[in-house]
Amino acid sequence: MLSLKFYGVRGSFPSPSLDTSYFGGNTSCVAVVNNDATRREALLLDVGSGAIHASEELVEKGVRRFHIFLSHLHWDHVQGFPFMSLLDRADCEIDIYASSEYAPLEQLFSTAMSPPLFPVVLKQRSATIRFVETAKSVDLGNMQIRVHPIEISHSDPVLGYRIDSGSASIAYLTDHQCGHDFGHVPAELVSWAQGVNTLIHDAQYTKTEFLEKSNWGHSTYEFAVKVAELARVKRLIFFHHDPKRSDDELRSILKLWESEPLAFKVLAAKEGEELCVV
Ligand SMILES: [Zn+2]
Ligand SMILES: [Zn+2]
Repeated sequence: MLSLKFYGVRGSFPSPSLDTSYFGGNTSCVAVVNNDATRREALLLDVGSGAIHASEELVEKGVRRFHIFLSHLHWDHVQGFPFMSLLDRADCEIDIYASSEYAPLEQLFSTAMSPPLFPVVLKQRSATIRFVETAKSVDLGNMQIRVHPIEISHSDPVLGYRIDSGSASIAYLTDHQCGHDFGHVPAELVSWAQGVNTLIHDAQYTKTEFLEKSNWGHSTYEFAVKVAELARVKRLIFFHHDPKRSDDELRSILKLWESEPLAFKVLAAKEGEELCVV
């Protein structure tokens, strides 16, 4: 059985405030562990500001090897990395998987983590850090997990990730640009996500907001629901909440979707929430 935990659910930039404290203000980070395999390893989907707490909590639980899969390199998906305390532990190993079209991954991270942008250079950190540039499927043997990436549309290249372990499956589609008709979903994407237990999908905008931000690289709630319907998922989780979306607004939106006769459950990602995936 896989379990996933949300450490950061917000898109674009961190938004801590009294109005966002229920769903959380940290940017993207989701942890996956396999309770039927090794407890020493964890998979992280993105390392936005939520990764700072994820690092502390998972190390405390005994995790020493981290497989970080980055959807892309926008700030809200990597800004927690320099502050992850596990980087300063010689007994921790980190593999960072991503596709980079601009420059080698290690070069990009080294530049971002060097003065004057950051005081401690990457090579001074104690953990063993490896960069794996790939957009191909990856087997994590000890975790008994297979990760299948897919390219999706955004303002820069983005990878979605499908995670399978036995019959348990998760699809992670953040920063996914939907079309203007809210309806067309590429056939390749539908078959890639087909039948997953849990679909975590970008749902940054309402239809009205989308009209003004239709090329900002994100989806509407309607489009996330459409992908979930076509892929016949069991559970859809709205993710990458707009930083200005208050808890009250999000609760109201969720209530509307919960009242729809859908064939799957609908939730909104909430920081700190842990879910079982079977
Ligand atoms: Zn983002
Ligand atoms: Zn982005």
